[in-house]
Amino acid sequence: MTKSYITSSTTGNGGTLTLVGFGPGSEDHLTPIARRAIEGADIIIGYRTYIDLVRPLIQKKTVIETGMTEEIDRATQAVELAYSGQNVALVSSGDVGIYGMAGLTYEVLEEKGWTGREVEVAVIPGITALSACASLLGAPLMHDFASISLSDLLTPWDVIRRRLKAAAEADFVVALYNPRSSKRVRQVEEAREILLAHRAHDTPVGIVKSAMREGEVVVISTLDAMLTHPIGMLTTILIGNSQTRLVSGRMVTPRGYRNKYNLDTGVRIKKENA
Ligand code: SAH
Repeated sequence: MTKSYITSSTTGNGGTLTLVGFGPGSEDHLTPIARRAIEGADIIIGYRTYIDLVRPLIQKKTVIETGMTEEIDRATQAVELAYSGQNVALVSSGDVGIYGMAGLTYEVLEEKGWTGREVEVAVIPGITALSACASLLGAPLMHDFASISLSDLLTPWDVIRRRLKAAAEADFVVALYNPRSSKRVRQVEEAREILLAHRAHDTPVGIVKSAMREGEVVVISTLDAMLTHPIGMLTTILIGNSQTRLVSGRMVTPRGYRNKYNLDTGVRIKKENA
């Protein structure tokens, strides 16, 4: 039997609100449970571009499409409709719980006095941009990493700068979401400078646009040269740590096996004075 994706119990006469991450874009990277959630909903709500990506699944349903900056509208409508008894799916690309709509929706529910019973709320995770992009680049996230969004619309730039510095200093691999928009161009330049204060100029940098959707572009560059490549709203950047290197053109961050094992034979290297 297939387990229901709704886990909370309800007593109200409200509907359901399912927050669905549908992955980077291609249907192959949409999980079966996300597909069922979209197909099973009465109403689908999402940002116009995202709706386009799942259009084949939602042919006869009511669809509410909104612009990118209408996030609060989207969350509020989704909550209202669920309260009125509808089964609503609110869709976001990647993982809905990673820079997606899940947090805001819970805040809107909180504002409405939701106790957990009036409507059923469930979050369906999806493949987030950093794992989709990492897979196209090689294996850059094999060691500790920090994910940082460069969007300062909601987060003060000082906070973002502090996080960039801390991640750079601590030698985390760094994933940059929202690196640049047409109006916001300076942030990625400053991020690069902060990283360069702690990392070599030839540190590998992966720049992926539109992973697993139409228009996909995968570039491997360096901290030095990264800004010579196009970077925009649909790009995620992965910056290597001090150990990240290229293996036949793939970006790989070693986990440390080579220090402990002979990778040819699999035999553990004995410590000299052991
Ligand atoms: N919830 C999404 C992230 C939304 S924030 C997720 O989990 O993936 C929007 C940012 O995500 C973009 O600016 C870009 O940095 C990144 N992004 C989303 N989809 C992408 C894709 N298919 N390829 C590359 N980057 C992507």
